Amino acid sequence: MRRGSIQQLFPAVNEDAERLQGVDAQHANFSAGQALAETIRTTLGPKSMDKMLLTSDGKIVVTNDGASILDRMDIDHPIAEMVVRVAETQEDAMGDGTTTAVLLTGELLGNAADLIEQGLHPTTISDGYHLATKRACETLRQATIGIDADDPDQLREIAQTVITGKWDDHDARFLADLAVRAVQAIERDGIVDRRNITQQAVAGGSSRDSEVIDGLVIDTERSSTSMVSPDTAFPQRIEDATIALIDSQLTVETATGLGTVSFDDPERRSALLEYEDQVYEECVTTIEDAGTDVVFCQKSIDDPIRHLLARENVLAVERTRKDELLKLGRATGARHVGSIDLLTTADTGFAEVVERRQVGDLELVIVTGGPDSKQVSLLLRGGTEHVTTEMKRILEDCIAALELAIEHREVLPGGGATEAMLAADLRDYAAGVRGRTQLAVMAFADALETIPRTLAKNAGMDPIDSLVDLRTRQHAGDHTAGLDVLMGDVRNMITAGVLEPLAIKQRAVTNAQEASNVIIRIDDIIAASSDRD
Ligand code: ADP
Repeated sequence: MRRGSIQQLFPAVNEDAERLQGVDAQHANFSAGQALAETIRTTLGPKSMDKMLLTSDGKIVVTNDGASILDRMDIDHPIAEMVVRVAETQEDAMGDGTTTAVLLTGELLGNAADLIEQGLHPTTISDGYHLATKRACETLRQATIGIDADDPDQLREIAQTVITGKWDDHDARFLADLAVRAVQAIERDGIVDRRNITQQAVAGGSSRDSEVIDGLVIDTERSSTSMVSPDTAFPQRIEDATIALIDSQLTVETATGLGTVSFDDPERRSALLEYEDQVYEECVTTIEDAGTDVVFCQKSIDDPIRHLLARENVLAVERTRKDELLKLGRATGARHVGSIDLLTTADTGFAEVVERRQVGDLELVIVTGGPDSKQVSLLLRGGTEHVTTEMKRILEDCIAALELAIEHREVLPGGGATEAMLAADLRDYAAGVRGRTQLAVMAFADALETIPRTLAKNAGMDPIDSLVDLRTRQHAGDHTAGLDVLMGDVRNMITAGVLEPLAIKQRAVTNAQEASNVIIRIDDIIAASSDRD
């Protein structure tokens, strides 16, 4: 990202200044953080709007995902960049809750600005925010609801809470099902290793044509990967396949391959060609001696070797991507070999089935049933590449949320219920906090209510009436009461099936507090030389 000088960053504040100090600096910082949060406010929740992003190289991205929007925005302000990092941290750690974390950060900064105007010192505010976060995290832990991680219905509700609003309502359940089936297929003893799910997006067809494929899918057409024995006579399905993985190319250095060779004597020419054929045969014999049925090669395969492999019924796939080779290694137990001469039976792996399959225009190789790890692939279909790319992003978030739910088995009610419950608890708690810090704890409680307020506003509900209803129900002790924005009323979020993993909420609150506390304590912005840290 580009960084400007202080004059470029804040020309309206002081054209001659080399540094911004005190109230000017705080004012500018808080405004930048709030402005950034405002850009994604309308993307929160099930009834939110999408953003269209136009990149400098002419690409168009339509998305509802806070992290993707902020990641692509050309941001030229150090404080705004810090807020973008809140989204990045949340996305990297949790895969969801990014918009919530950023909105909360913006609101905490806005409330801090009001408190400073009332005469509170920034350190008092950050102390209060810190205290409030500690209390909120304890309250969150006590408020969690245990789930049965083997129950697909509960998992579907968690996945659907992530999807709702990001995708067409009619297909949300279908996508949630895909995510749940993929995650359940690879879950072992309560652990979900996301690396065992591969996503292949194929434009063309309807999103309803998307499917979970048992096994690892290698796409041989969209990347430069290609199958080198694709003739129709070749078996479509190989059972009990021995797999070899070659990290380099399958080529043999021959005299003719090195350039033009001239001969006076035709016999010498045929002797040389014979020798070359022998070298190629030896290469294929090494592969055969290792018992190989399928060889995946990271680079290219020489033509003569391709033909010989096809003759011996060995399926060969060239230019396999490095990440796919790694997954193949994990799934089949095969060891990567740097050069073909080194291949032995000890390096090969095993798969119950290797199958060739045509999907649309795409030729796929599907590897199923390796001994070491269970692999599944999500084959995502959609009318255009924009659709499949967005679908991929949403499913990544879903899978991350399901991983947290399965591994921790604790969820919270969504729809603003948890934030409203925390706000009510913090207001009670603040009464016992001595001194001015109390006001900061109250301000933290107010900031949390930005989530239900925004959910209501984005859904066209009256934010004031909705919040009043919500507070009344929460005050009466119904901590599951949240905004059902699809029905337009306040109701029990557990029975409505709006559930979110505890870890996502906890991280959103702590990320927002940590970032806003750093920003609140800055009272000086100095244009520094770039050659020193
Ligand atoms: P984030 O990036 O913060 O996850 P989202 O746009 O995904 O933002 O919206 C998440 C919010 O939407 C959460 O507060 C969640 O509880 C809420 N939500 C999701 N589904 C529903 C629903 N059906 N009714 C009400 N709120 C919902």
